[in-house]
Amino acid sequence: MKYLVQKFGGTSLATPELRDQVVAKVISAKNEGSMPVVVVSAIGRQGDPYATDTLLKFIGGINSEIPPKELDNLMACGEIISGVAMVATLEKQGYKAVFLTGGQAGIITDDNHTEAHIIEVNPKLIHKYAAEGTIVIVAGFQGQTGEGLITTLGRGGSDTSAAALGVALNAEAIDIYTDVEGIMTADPRIVENARVLDVITYNEICQLAHDGAKVIHPRAVEIAMQKNIPIRVKCAFSDAPGTLVTSSTDNGSVEIKKDRVITGITHIPNVTQLKIYTSESPESDLPQLKIFKSMALAGISVDFINVHPDVVIYTVKDDVAAKAEQILENMGFSPVVTPSCAKVSAVGAGMAGVPGVMASIMEALAAENIKILQTADSHSTIWCLVKRAEMEKAIRALHSYFSLGE
Ligand code: ADP
Ligand code: MG
Repeated sequence: MKYLVQKFGGTSLATPELRDQVVAKVISAKNEGSMPVVVVSAIGRQGDPYATDTLLKFIGGINSEIPPKELDNLMACGEIISGVAMVATLEKQGYKAVFLTGGQAGIITDDNHTEAHIIEVNPKLIHKYAAEGTIVIVAGFQGQTGEGLITTLGRGGSDTSAAALGVALNAEAIDIYTDVEGIMTADPRIVENARVLDVITYNEICQLAHDGAKVIHPRAVEIAMQKNIPIRVKCAFSDAPGTLVTSSTDNGSVEIKKDRVITGITHIPNVTQLKIYTSESPESDLPQLKIFKSMALAGISVDFINVHPDVVIYTVKDDVAAKAEQILENMGFSPVVTPSCAKVSAVGAGMAGVPGVMASIMEALAAENIKILQTADSHSTIWCLVKRAEMEKAIRALHSYFSLGE
């Protein structure tokens, strides 16, 4: 039996009409000879009755006093409701279907409540129901500890559930259905002529997702990549082929366009740059090490790190910047703080070894009078820090300079 994992995001499940559309995709997969295993997110977006944030508001928000273990019990409800709604829709259309919680589907996690990691998947019940021809619907975003406590997987958790099941079931593919036509050259909310990519490598989408592209969670990509299970990002409301995520040389059948230097532009808004001159501190004091240890101790995650002999530069999220600044001052430093910045990243496997990519990026941004506050690069990504107010302009400038919309 060949399994096909199909994951549906919350917006695709919000109304009975949408669920009918989604169920048609499940049924056609089954009719074409695959055994669909459906992973669902909670229904709807912010403000909708059963959306996760609405459940949280019910008890006073994520910062309420209730222990993380109990938060997980509550947060797991949204996916249970949408999963049962899917079973009802399938049964109404004459198909046998069954709902399983993450735990019942065999997703075992560590006990890091609200941000749990999957450590094992034992899909015994899925095999049992599938053998009877029953379509299995699994609650995304959740698992259970070895002791049987409900856990949730953090942001993008349903994508991760789908990927982990895809690997455990050795699925033919993991289809991620969402509200856009596929993975695009930039966030369509910012770039009007963003284009859907036919194919992208695991590494490229991983990089795009780590640097802000919300369309799929990077952890899901990393999991699928381990077993080379293809991911397809598709639109829940159309029959367009979407984007295939694969490794570039995959048995020669897929080849990434060689002339594509940049594949996509992505962004992370609302970060603060901290610049700390360390030349006053004696080297024996290991000032660089102390700075990063103190951030770690305070639970502040740092990004975009540049360490030089007498200056350390990095970014933190705007909302923890004041705390970070205070810590640095307490250590005797006088950090130079630039708030409200954004990290804009150009990603493309094709840039490796190609001369002049950085020059092109600088030229594109200079033409729009956008100041680059900091840069870094790897074989497949160039990162630029700009002021948040110029972020959209920078994304559009790069998108257009590299003709990504064409
Ligand atoms: P779901 O609820 O289906 O998981 P998400 O909101 O998590 O949906 O992801 C889909 C959204 O990701 C799109 O509506 C789009 O605005 C956003 N997005 C950001 N960057 C990209 C990109 N490069 N390609 C496609 N979508 C993107
Ligand atoms: Mg999502």
